[in-house]
Amino acid sequence: MNMSNNGTRQVPDVICPFCGCLCDDIEVAVSGNKIEKVKHACKIGTAKFLYASLRSHRFTSPLIKVDGEFKATTLENALEKAAEILKESNKPLLYGWSATSCEAQRVGVALAEATGGVIDATVTVCHGPSILAIQDVGFPSITLGECKNRSDLVIYWGANPMASHPRHMSRYTCFPRGFFRERGLKDRELIVVDVRKTDTANIAGTFVQVRPNEDYELVSALRCIVNGGEITCKEVAGVPKEEIYVLAEKMMNCHFGVLFFGQGLTQSYGKIRNIDNAISLVRDLNRHTKFSLVPMRGHYNVTGFDEVLTWQTGYPFAVDFSRGYPRYNPGDTTTIDILRRGEVDAALIIASDPGAHFPAKAVEHLAKIPLIAIDPHWTPTTEMADVVIPSAIVGIETEGTAYRMDTVPLKLRKVIEPPEGILPDEEILKRLLEMVING
Ligand code: SF4
Repeated sequence: MNMSNNGTRQVPDVICPFCGCLCDDIEVAVSGNKIEKVKHACKIGTAKFLYASLRSHRFTSPLIKVDGEFKATTLENALEKAAEILKESNKPLLYGWSATSCEAQRVGVALAEATGGVIDATVTVCHGPSILAIQDVGFPSITLGECKNRSDLVIYWGANPMASHPRHMSRYTCFPRGFFRERGLKDRELIVVDVRKTDTANIAGTFVQVRPNEDYELVSALRCIVNGGEITCKEVAGVPKEEIYVLAEKMMNCHFGVLFFGQGLTQSYGKIRNIDNAISLVRDLNRHTKFSLVPMRGHYNVTGFDEVLTWQTGYPFAVDFSRGYPRYNPGDTTTIDILRRGEVDAALIIASDPGAHFPAKAVEHLAKIPLIAIDPHWTPTTEMADVVIPSAIVGIETEGTAYRMDTVPLKLRKVIEPPEGILPDEEILKRLLEMVING
């Protein structure tokens, strides 16, 4: 850390706690306790750092809802009320977790076990099908560093990193110079498969436009060619036969290919089957060359949640402790399903905003039950809450561990102090757990 003449601290090697890229080359200029400048981050990452210092949109104290109105209260009161809600509940939902540290997630698992609740994260509505497919057919993956140093063919399928992970291509895939790819993009080819011409597709060497919800068919056609078969129809999934042959040839003839896939593949018709077919395609390609795949995980620590929950329970998401032992049955124990069936009678939402993103039926049930929200900011979910406990922002106001999308763990740094009296998620959850067990 360097201090300049005007009293500004330069903090190097900061990790951006926004998306699954976890860029670790950010430099932050801090004056007093305010972040003044951010270097190297994309617009989204820069905004996260700068807005952390703007206190106007943050909670300044815990809140409890009385007769439909929020009243400021002490942390002790808010924790007592939250503990009471969890103790009175037969089966609470503990949801969110993707934008907090592994240390907080670990305490969250203990809290779910102590309360006989269901613990689940945003993975349930994004890459859940990828996890299920990986459990079925394996995970021929690599690190982003290997991709940077070795890949000569990069494919984005159903993903638009220009919008969702703005530095993915410049740090890890297309543009950087790698050990075996010294000329950066000149040594690689970029292909995009998507239903529409996205910003990423605009800069790709090849854009393959697939008809919505027919990714499975296109993957199957590619597998047919890769395995020595023949396509007899004129087109598959809206893609002319000749284009499919060209794509398959490029895949088989590259030296080191990587397929990055996003929610265009995980959430279109076929879901888990799209992914197990894509993984099988990668397996087939490894008979011809070296090929891997990596899911484009969104939230910066959604991967960490899967890791932590798996260490603790053996399962990666949607774990139900209501029978006294961990039970995992996606479609039954997954958040949207239990909310739609009205199965939980209280909820603790942390580091996510289901009020803004869940289907109406699920949000309707959340609005009916006692709700605890732990979040630094106002969100549609905190509006519905009965208790709001503000927290420090991990990676800016407190340290913690997070897993990058390629399952590489990184230590996030603390850059500034949180607002007075505001604790990290881990500390809040530890106190809550103590009250639930002993209080
Ligand atoms: S790409 Fe993601 S991790 Fe990197 S600076 Fe942008 S938001 Fe942050």
